[in-house]
Amino acid sequence: MTEAQILEQLRTVNDPELHKDLVSLNMVKGISIKDNGIVAIAIELTTPACPLKDQIRRDIESAVRQLGEEVQGIEIEFTANVQASPQQKAAENNPLPGVKNIVAVGAGKGGVGKSTVAVNLAVGLARQGASVGLMDGDIYGPSLPTMLGLDKHTAYMSTEKRIVPFGEHGIKSMTIGKLVDPGKALIWRGPMAHGAFQRLATQTDWGDLDYLIIDLPPGTGDVPLTMSQILPLAGAVVVCTPQKVAQDDARRAIAMFQQLNIAVLGVVENMSYFIGDDGKEYDIFGRDGAQAMAQELNIPVLGAIPINMALRRNSDSGDPTSNFTGDGKLAEELEVLVKNFAACISVEVLGGDQRQPTLTISG
Ligand code: ADP
Repeated sequence: MTEAQILEQLRTVNDPELHKDLVSLNMVKGISIKDNGIVAIAIELTTPACPLKDQIRRDIESAVRQLGEEVQGIEIEFTANVQASPQQKAAENNPLPGVKNIVAVGAGKGGVGKSTVAVNLAVGLARQGASVGLMDGDIYGPSLPTMLGLDKHTAYMSTEKRIVPFGEHGIKSMTIGKLVDPGKALIWRGPMAHGAFQRLATQTDWGDLDYLIIDLPPGTGDVPLTMSQILPLAGAVVVCTPQKVAQDDARRAIAMFQQLNIAVLGVVENMSYFIGDDGKEYDIFGRDGAQAMAQELNIPVLGAIPINMALRRNSDSGDPTSNFTGDGKLAEELEVLVKNFAACISVEVLGGDQRQPTLTISG
C-alpha cells in the first residue's frame, strides 16, 4: 500500500454536495501510513459546520478499505477553511476585506423571529468552530441588547477610533441599541438610519470573520438598499412563519433581495410547529407553508424551528447558548439549520467561482 494508491482511492470519493471528488476539490491535505498499517488522512472542509462530515468519513473509510488487509485502521482528521464569497473577492474598495461571507437575515414583517434566527445562526456557527460576527442592522428596533444579554456591557472605541464589538457567546456583535438611547433609534428618519447602518457596518472592528450575519429591519425599507450599496453580500436568508398570509410578506422580501441583486440562499420556517407536554407535535400555523412557497420559488428551506418556550425564555434572558445545550427537538432543529446554512454558502461560493462571466454588450 502506498500513499499514491490512497490518493487514487480518494479520487473516487465525492463531496456529496459539491458533486466533485475530494482530490479535485483540493480537500485532501495530508496522507500518511503509520508503521502499524494505520492510514492517517487530513481533510479540509469548506466549513466547520459541514452537515455531511459523517457521510464523507464513511465514504473515505469504505474507499480506502478497498486497498485490502494492509489497511489496519483509518484515522481522519477534519479541519475547515471557509472560502470567501465571489462577491467579497470581486468587491472594489471593500470596507470589510477580512470578512469572508456577509449574509443578511430578513423578513417580510416584524415578529416572525428574524432576530431569533439571526442570533441562533451566529451562535450555532460559532459553536461549530467558525469565527462569526453578528450585526444588529435593525436600526429602528434593535433586539440584540436583550437577546445577547448586553444590558451591563458598555460599548467603547479602540485607540484607532473603531467600535470594539462585544464578545459574548463566542461571537463578535454590535448593535445600535448600545450606542444610542434605544428609544431614540426608533424615530430615525431615512438618511440617519442610512448613516447609522453604515457606521455600524464599516466602523466596527470586525477583523477576520468566516461569517458576518446581519439582522435587518423587517419589511422592505431603506436599510437593505443602503446595505446593498456598501457591502458585498454573499446572500440573504428570509424568515417566515407557515401561515398562508405570512407567505405574501415573505415573497415581497424575497423579491426585494432579488431586485437588489442579492441571492436568496434559503427560507427559514419559524414557529413551524409546537410540541406539547405530551410530546405530540401540533401544527398550529399549518406546518410546511413556507416549504410550499420555497419550492414554488425554487429556493431551499434551510430549517424549521418549533414554537418553543425555552427559546423564548432564553431570548428574553440573553442566553442563546442554552438553546443548543438543552435536550430535545429545539437543539436538533437549530443544528440542522446552522449546518444547512453553512453548506449552502459553501455550495454558493464554489458555484460562484465556477460561474461563467457574462458580458453585456450594448449598442
Ligand atoms: P422579529 O425579529 O422577526 O421581529 P423576534 O426574533 O424578535 O422577531 O421574535 C419575536 C418574539 O417571538 C420574541 O419574543 C422571541 O423570543 C419570540 N420567538 C421567536 N421565535 C420563537 C419560537 N420559535 N418559539 C417561541 N418564541 C419565539
